[in-house]
Amino acid sequence: MGAKNKTAITPTREEDYAQWYQEIIKASDMAENSPVRGCMVMKPWGYAIWENIMNQMDAEFKKTGVKNAYFPLFIPLSYLEKEAEHVEGFAKECAVVTHHKLEKGPDGKLVPAGELAEPLIVRPTSETIIGESMSRWTSSYRDLPILLNQWANVVRWEMRTRMFLRTSEFLWQEGHTAHATREEAVKRTLQMLDLYANFVQDRLAMPVIKGRKSESERFPGADDTTCIEAMMQDRRALQAGTSHFLGQNFAKGSDIRFQNEDGQEQFAWTTSWGTSTRMIGGMIMVHSDDDGLVVPPRIAPAHVVILPIVKKDQDNSQVLESADALKAALNEKMYHGRAVEVEIDDRDIGGARGWDWVKKGIPVRVELGPRDVAADTVFVARRDREAGQKESVDRETFINTITDTLDQIQQVLFDRALAFQKENTFHVDTWQAFEEIYKDAKGAHNGAFVYAHWCGSRDCEERIKKELSVTIRCIPFDSSKEAGKCICCDKPSEQRVLFAKAY
Ligand code: AMP
Ligand code: ZN
Repeated sequence: MGAKNKTAITPTREEDYAQWYQEIIKASDMAENSPVRGCMVMKPWGYAIWENIMNQMDAEFKKTGVKNAYFPLFIPLSYLEKEAEHVEGFAKECAVVTHHKLEKGPDGKLVPAGELAEPLIVRPTSETIIGESMSRWTSSYRDLPILLNQWANVVRWEMRTRMFLRTSEFLWQEGHTAHATREEAVKRTLQMLDLYANFVQDRLAMPVIKGRKSESERFPGADDTTCIEAMMQDRRALQAGTSHFLGQNFAKGSDIRFQNEDGQEQFAWTTSWGTSTRMIGGMIMVHSDDDGLVVPPRIAPAHVVILPIVKKDQDNSQVLESADALKAALNEKMYHGRAVEVEIDDRDIGGARGWDWVKKGIPVRVELGPRDVAADTVFVARRDREAGQKESVDRETFINTITDTLDQIQQVLFDRALAFQKENTFHVDTWQAFEEIYKDAKGAHNGAFVYAHWCGSRDCEERIKKELSVTIRCIPFDSSKEAGKCICCDKPSEQRVLFAKAY
């Protein structure tokens, strides 16, 4: 698979991280930009990762009693207006449908016609349209809780887009629940945040920090927004999921009322929570290297590629049959609820073939030549190791230990990412030290995760954002109360918050 003196991806992470990211997506054949502004095409290798995320996360939701449903793509403007902060928050990034047909204009060109009496908004999120249903479904406390999720696409007219991380149309899941009591809704909000954190760590091998957003970063209309934040290899933070406690704000807007056990009318308490294709962007940025994509085995589109060594003008049937048999034997093994999935690539294209699979990030590559067949061995390379590092393994042993091997790779990726996050996380107590970390930050050096004291004021938060492009990622749940002074204004603070440059 080529000597290890060059890397398969240009530029490298160190040279130009943003460009490296684009090149990884291209080289792995996951996705491409589309002619539609801000929208991407997910190709089979990228979409398969999303399918695995969907299947596995869906199973976790269902274990907590959540059921799937589907609501309309279009939201009447008047619905969106039912919650004042909500509509204000999303107004600047809405796709609006105003007409329902096309007609030929005077110059023969098609133009929109048939103006709608009420504009329809392509959903940026579905609280208000789901709230309408919930209000009709809820009359007594016996109708609660309602625990729904939908897998869908949404549209937010984003100004600066980047494949997977921020697109105008994106795929996601959005959970929506309604409860009889505040306590129950708060509990559900945190339960889903924990589910996200566990999922992202366990399946995507991405360590995360859980916490609460500051008021300025809250979801429009929420009383409380909780989130998980992950560190990318350029030391920037990525918000990988959010879970919102919506109080009674949306219940009041959508009139979700019920009679409690004492016969009194009350408004319900609601939550919403979402994760998107952005998680795939995070996975790319956390694990991939200068040779290409690295996909954690648990969500990989396929686990193993077999590369039979075939020669033109030669009878390759023995090697090809042996490859088929190896594939069949591996398919019998189960790995995290799925059969071990195997690709066979028998193209006769020399060293480029191996590199193609390095770039696609498949966890395990197996070379199989006539000598291996004769000796009952396989020649194995792992994506968590150097591309040139390969070893000859007894064929039966390889088959019988494949799921252990996959789990080892999964663990190596997680441990590596966690070590990187820890190495780049600091406790800082002075403005000078804080500035030092971020002020020269360019290119591959985008600072770090910093735990520092903050007085709680918007002014300080704004100043830090303006001067250093650093934001409060969250008020972490793991940061205990501790008296200190605000990094910015010296006023008293009772807790450190997590700062970083963010995507
Ligand atoms: P929100 O409804 O704003 O709390 O977002 C829910 C989830 O969707 C968050 O985890 C975000 O990371 C993700 N998300 C928000 N905007 C985008 C976007 N433009 N592209 C991809 N993912 C997004
Ligand atoms: Zn302050």
